[in-house]
Amino acid sequence: MARAFIGIGSNLGDRTANIADAVDRMNRLPRTRVVRQSSVIETEPVGVTDQPRFLNAAAELRTGLAPEELLDGLREIEDRLGRERRERWGPRTIDLDLLLFGDKVVQTDRLAVPHPRMCERAFVLDPLAEIARDVRHPTEGKTVGELLERLAEDR
Ligand code: ATP
Ligand code: CA
Ligand code: CA
Repeated sequence: MARAFIGIGSNLGDRTANIADAVDRMNRLPRTRVVRQSSVIETEPVGVTDQPRFLNAAAELRTGLAPEELLDGLREIEDRLGRERRERWGPRTIDLDLLLFGDKVVQTDRLAVPHPRMCERAFVLDPLAEIARDVRHPTEGKTVGELLERLAEDR
């Protein structure tokens, strides 16, 4: 069983319900359990700023799935929750990003793990640090807590 961390975001519809529904569905993926969930924070949109505020959270999974299988499961949940893929970084009912998958480093056409933009995003690191402060990023060589400190210093 691997330990995986998921970044969760929603800025359309009933955002709180969308996050709860997504966590429930992740818990029902094959060979997968949600073992921890952060609190939910409200954040300003980054990149495309002309859109509603987000709710963000993070979850820890134990899974017997391979990273690509987990990605497929996450994408299916996004589809079920009515996510439409229009513009990149645009508004969405749910976004499930695979942030970390144990110590694995994956780089394929459809999957990059650790998530390449997680280290620059407070809306990812804040909730993640709540449940994974001492977890080490396999290529940065820093813990999530240290990454969050570095980001705060850079701002
Ligand atoms: P960002 O990746 O910057 O957070 P986004 O979440 O808005 O942007 P999406 O439109 O949700 O981007 O995803 C685009 C593609 O990214 C997906 O189709 C998926 O194949 C790919 N992808 C690559 N690595 C990951 C990952 N670690 N987690 C989720 N999707 C990933
Ligand atoms: Ca994302
Ligand atoms: Ca995504």
